[in-house]
Amino acid sequence: MTELNKQLHYIYDEVLRRNPGEAEFHQAVLEVLSSLGPVVAKHPQYTSVIQRMCEPERQIIFRVPWVDDAGNVQINRGFRVEFNSALGPFKGGLRFHPSVYIGIIKFLGFEQIFKNSLTGLPIGGGKGGSDFDPKGRSDGEIMRFCQSFMTELYRHLGEYTDVPAGDIGVGGREIGYLFGQYKRITNRYESGVLTGKGLSWGGSQVRTEATGYGAVFFADEILKTSGDSFEGKRAVVSGSGNVAIYAIEKIHQLGGTVVACSDSSGYVVDEKGIDLDLIKEIKEVKRERIEAYATARGGDTKFVSGRLTWDVPCDVAVPSATQNELTGEDAARLVKAGGKIVAEGANMPCTPDAVKVFAEAGVKFAPGKAANAGGVATSALEMQQNASRDSWSFEYTEQRLATIMRGIHDRCLATADEYGAPGNYVVGANIAGFIQVADAMLAMGVI
Ligand code: NDP
Repeated sequence: MTELNKQLHYIYDEVLRRNPGEAEFHQAVLEVLSSLGPVVAKHPQYTSVIQRMCEPERQIIFRVPWVDDAGNVQINRGFRVEFNSALGPFKGGLRFHPSVYIGIIKFLGFEQIFKNSLTGLPIGGGKGGSDFDPKGRSDGEIMRFCQSFMTELYRHLGEYTDVPAGDIGVGGREIGYLFGQYKRITNRYESGVLTGKGLSWGGSQVRTEATGYGAVFFADEILKTSGDSFEGKRAVVSGSGNVAIYAIEKIHQLGGTVVACSDSSGYVVDEKGIDLDLIKEIKEVKRERIEAYATARGGDTKFVSGRLTWDVPCDVAVPSATQNELTGEDAARLVKAGGKIVAEGANMPCTPDAVKVFAEAGVKFAPGKAANAGGVATSALEMQQNASRDSWSFEYTEQRLATIMRGIHDRCLATADEYGAPGNYVVGANIAGFIQVADAMLAMGVI
């Protein structure tokens, strides 16, 4: 275990005791606590706040019954963890994936507190989802599931209370069904209650692209610190979902070439650069497996079944699939293959061992809570547009996103400097994210 001082050690032990079996949540808490030693040394008044921050304000677990196409009743479990509302309404996505359980939702909700704080926008942290597996389900089944899910969840939501969005398995289609059911039950057209909406009914330009674009803007800021750019760089992106596709798009726009991407069945290597139109067609329209990309692309493009092992030569890596997908061994391969910058598009895709390998090898590493904050930041911009009944242009919104990402990057670096860890984005992100929430909690008393 990473060295913690006595007080932080006690807090971590309490988290282990109170949340048994929630490995991902333990991992996320330890990652943050490991950065906070210098903060409590300098400001002891924060210690009690840290303990409160590790306990969600509210956790909701509910039954989601629905009827499949064959007429059978199916039962899933729904979750919403409202973690911290010191800075604004709970805000964070919904994940539909069979691996979902309370420990995953709590890790994601906990991360979200600091990420949302880093954006500088007035949003608290939360997360939700279900162990529902959308793969292979018809549109009708997805709709009935979403309607049942919202029939319970709606009572906990509101534009000033809790504002969900998408995550793994929840994209524009699902947000549409969820919003439709919320509107129907409440008889309110409350645009600000969900983000990631369609452009014709309250959505924001750039929200679809925001997480992937934002991660690449962050990596670009890292490159700029040494006078470099994406021009001519090779990159590898894992996943081929929402975050991955738009990370690929932005890297190509900035002059780099993405040569590999993946899904849970395997990965493709395309030395000419991933064909964006083709990957969008296969993943967003046809919802096929990644092998279909290699088949359709032909030539030397190869499909490799099994998990991406990060040994494809590259300068920059943007892991954008899921938690703990890049292990210590993978990190060693990535370093050997030339990787110099890693920006996490996904939440916690690199294991603690991997992060250690990067630190030892001098790889510049941007943690997800900073690098992938562009998604939630643009969700907050969507809320702003909804509140003022306005809609902004693509160019203006993208410029706002780029400015926010630059701000997060600079704040991480400045904070890392201030606390004696120059160039360490992990320390910078954890401390900067923490202090803003902690100050707000202290100001509001013991609540
Ligand atoms: P999508 O569902 O759109 O895509 C997920 C991608 O990752 C798919 O290619 C999927 O493959 C792959 N994947 C998922 N689980 C696994 C697994 N266990 N092993 C291997 N591959 C897997 O999700 P998003 O792109 O929205 O989210 C990706 C990551 O980014 C998540 O960590 C999410 O929390 C994070 N994130 C997302 C944001 C957003 O705005 N969407 C905002 C901030 C962070 P397959 O289809 O085969 O399952």
